Amino acid sequence: MHGDMKLFDSHCHLQDERLAGRLDAVIERACRAGVRRIICCGSSESDWHRVAELADRYDFIRPAFGLHPWYIAGRSKDWLADLERFLTERPSMTGEIGLDHAVDERNDEDQEAVFAVQMELAARLDRPVTIHCRRAWDRLPVLLKEMKTRPRFMIHSYSGGAELMGPLAELGAFFSFSGSITLNGNRKGIRAAAACPADRLLLETDAPDIPPLLPDGRRAEMSEPASLTLVLKVAAAARGVSDVDLAAQVWENSCRFCDLET
Ligand SMILES: [Zn+2]
Repeated sequence: MHGDMKLFDSHCHLQDERLAGRLDAVIERACRAGVRRIICCGSSESDWHRVAELADRYDFIRPAFGLHPWYIAGRSKDWLADLERFLTERPSMTGEIGLDHAVDERNDEDQEAVFAVQMELAARLDRPVTIHCRRAWDRLPVLLKEMKTRPRFMIHSYSGGAELMGPLAELGAFFSFSGSITLNGNRKGIRAAAACPADRLLLETDAPDIPPLLPDGRRAEMSEPASLTLVLKVAAAARGVSDVDLAAQVWENSCRFCDLET
């Protein structure tokens, strides 16, 4: 659509079983939409190898490996050593890791310990981190401040509101906005996308999750990297800039965040 507009999907899960069997078509649509780079995030010990396979197959995919708070309960005794192996075998990022206070059966102490040890590992290996945070906005800044060395990090599908962005940005945060800002009534998300410091703004699809609202007012069945154009449009409108200008800014931010050449 826009000649050479380059889009960067900062967070998705192409290894998800819901995309198996349609991945070729999903990737072709992503290319046609202008998506040139994709961060594919693993979230449990059982999907790291599939993320690694995808990264080895497609050079525009950068893999991320981490243990998500939803999957910490059954972790193996070797999980951290395995994670370190995945992180060192190829250029990569850490994540998806984080805190989730919206799950039914919570063990906050365990969540925080698993989060902290992965942040430490990321700092030691110099791997930028993608963080999941749901309703834990009172704890995340506290934990980040306590860390002796903090790796570079982004908060994916940011839902913390505009007010928290200043303090988090001071701690180094990048903010990634997803299809949730396309949904009717997400004024909090729109306000945050408008208020985000220009050099810290990223965009993502979280595919196949967070299906965006389509131009005809229906909600997509699933999200995919090509959905990024819809997220871009809403974020650009919120900030009063053109799609092309915001895409260029996001491309530069994403490359800087991931240590990739622009
Ligand atoms: Zn995710």
